[in-house]
Amino acid sequence: MDDASFAKARRRLMTEIEVEARETHFWTGRAHFSERVMAALEKVPRHEFVLPEDQPHAYVNRPRGIGHGQTISQPYIVALMTDLLDLEPAHRVLEIGSGCGYQAAVLAELAGRVFTVETFEELAHTAAARLARLGYRNVEVRHGEGYEGWPEEAPFDAIIVTAAPIAVPPALLDQLATGGRMVVPVGKPGDTQILTLCRKDAEGHVERDGLLPVSFVPMVRRDR
Ligand code: SAH
Repeated sequence: MDDASFAKARRRLMTEIEVEARETHFWTGRAHFSERVMAALEKVPRHEFVLPEDQPHAYVNRPRGIGHGQTISQPYIVALMTDLLDLEPAHRVLEIGSGCGYQAAVLAELAGRVFTVETFEELAHTAAARLARLGYRNVEVRHGEGYEGWPEEAPFDAIIVTAAPIAVPPALLDQLATGGRMVVPVGKPGDTQILTLCRKDAEGHVERDGLLPVSFVPMVRRDR
């Protein structure tokens, strides 16, 4: 496939995301995603992030394997989670679970700086190299433990967790700025999880809303 066919596939995907946003409006509260978010999704070359043999299917609205038993999320879910963060150009964002780096690239189109943590060393290195090759200069990838966040760079205006913990990790709530927003799938491994939106108000109180059942790989804990 050449660049023109990938661009055409991306355009079709945008239409599918718009339809799915309308269909899930009752649960998510958002019938339309912002123009900035949709433009970012239409710009990022998802086919550069999937395994070479999956390139022809990069723009199907489904998750895909990326090796090591991990997945790149479904484009609609990437759009929804990104939209829920209400990103602005000056924002600093933390992502937990870099995977192949696709979600980080979408965030990098919308925010000032993106910090992303990945527990699998090889995935962290591949994502960092890929993002550098594609010209994303405002993303830093760290091989580390997502449950700890990235304390040296906190606070963050937005936090997105792309693997599912059983409960919202306390360190991440601590590292969320006042007025900040965090999106995280919460639930037991193997169960469906609930995509949860946490908002921290000016006094530091956190309000949580469970939005939509989703299916993510578990957020693991391992000795490194
Ligand atoms: N956002 C990714 C998809 C993530 S899949 C993308 O756009 O491709 C979930 C990722 O979370 C996997 O790569 C997995 O290795 C990682 N992960 C799981 N537990 C983690 C933890 N405790 N800390 C950091 N990353 C973790």
